[in-house]
Amino acid sequence: MTDTAFSCLPLSPAMLANLDQLGYVRMTPIQAASLPPALAGQDVIGEAQTGSGKTAAFAVALLHRLDAALPRVQALVLCPTRELADQVTQEIRRLARAADNIKVLSLCGGSPMKPQMESLSFGAHVAVGTPGRLIDHLERGSLDLSALNTLVLDEADRMLDMGFLDDIKAIAARAPARRQTLLFSATFPDGVKDIAQKFMRDPRAVKVAGATSAAASTIRQIAYEVTDAERLDAVPRLLRAFRPESTIAFCNTKQQCRDLEAVLAAQGFVALALHGDLEQRDRDQVLIQFANRSASVLVATDVAARGLDIANLACVINVDISADVEQHVHRIGRTGRAGAEGLALSLASLDEMGRIGRIEQLQGDPFKWQPLDDLRDAPGGALLPAMDTLQILGGRKEKIRPGDILGALTGEAGFTAAQIGKINVTDFHSYVAVERGIAQEAVRRLSLGKLKGRKVKVRRLADLAA
Ligand code: AMP
Repeated sequence: MTDTAFSCLPLSPAMLANLDQLGYVRMTPIQAASLPPALAGQDVIGEAQTGSGKTAAFAVALLHRLDAALPRVQALVLCPTRELADQVTQEIRRLARAADNIKVLSLCGGSPMKPQMESLSFGAHVAVGTPGRLIDHLERGSLDLSALNTLVLDEADRMLDMGFLDDIKAIAARAPARRQTLLFSATFPDGVKDIAQKFMRDPRAVKVAGATSAAASTIRQIAYEVTDAERLDAVPRLLRAFRPESTIAFCNTKQQCRDLEAVLAAQGFVALALHGDLEQRDRDQVLIQFANRSASVLVATDVAARGLDIANLACVINVDISADVEQHVHRIGRTGRAGAEGLALSLASLDEMGRIGRIEQLQGDPFKWQPLDDLRDAPGGALLPAMDTLQILGGRKEKIRPGDILGALTGEAGFTAAQIGKINVTDFHSYVAVERGIAQEAVRRLSLGKLKGRKVKVRRLADLAA
């Protein structure tokens, strides 16, 4: 959080009162950096993660320019997934309460087309959606962008990962040239830079330091003294005591990663290791499974975790203490988010106390120590992830899109959208997370049915690795 209040911005008194009511008083770093240029009408490229308050940053900007009396789509937000689109829609609705009758529509694949077309025909001010479905509406003429003045690309890197590049280009090409474009992304691979270069005008790049998200001050840090012999076995004990839904366990070496993965697997955890020796495809599969909540623990070295865009971690475990103080701060900055408390647990041997001292100095705060022997297993049985990943043979090269997979699962196969999680489409394979309990049945039904008119090979990714 910064010291700067929203009231420093040229916002309407109604908007300021509403922000105040929502408990948004001071700006998060990304808001303080992006709102002044965005409100002044400049294009903005924001480097920000989930949890940084980026949604409110672009929402306040787009609402500022909206004419409530004009019932036409004046702002369009592109999101990679339906979940994110729904969250963004809700946040914009909350922030729009200050103004009269602003209509915000969510237009995502996986929902029937017709009600969306009807809602659009009644007039909406803001549309939020996934690229594939937005293209469908543009092609049918149900979505008209001629009154658009703000285009937002949210989580641009993830949209590219999901194969939406062409759709994004087609949508941007149909938007009026005189518009403001706001782009938010956690990472900046070449694809994102290309889009920014092609579709933005003299954009202002704003960036906030990694560990200082809205959450930096709400991380609970606890340290445990261990001997090297106790270290690896302490990790499952921590997991059973705290039961975090998602954890990254940082090790200093690849060998430590491999050893910890084996210890966790032997005790029934779904843990995956990420280290420099993995082939690109294996690395991608590990990341997909962890991000879609099919694995509860990611065991990683700092190098392997670099550039990893995974937000909302419940817990970070420092299996070894990093020799680099900044690295430690970077590691623990991956847990916690605005409003929620993060958990960072550190295992330190006597040899590592010097490192601990330097970290405490930088933090300006001593560690809180607890004896390992005080840990008790929390009730609840095995700590299993909520989802399981299916791998489909066929991807971008076969023109498969996330919406096709969601459609097959919720259509013919008869599952509900709530049972389906993240969908990742890569060049030759697609991955879909489904609720853990339905994985086998989903494999069976998908194999019986068709995807894009063709039979497909489907299997549980975990079966493949076994
Ligand atoms: P986001 O990064 O957009 O997903 O936002 C993360 C969370 O921070 C959301 O739950 C917001 O409601 C909350 N939030 C955003 N801006 C602020 C703020 N200035 N003060 C307090 N909470 C905020």
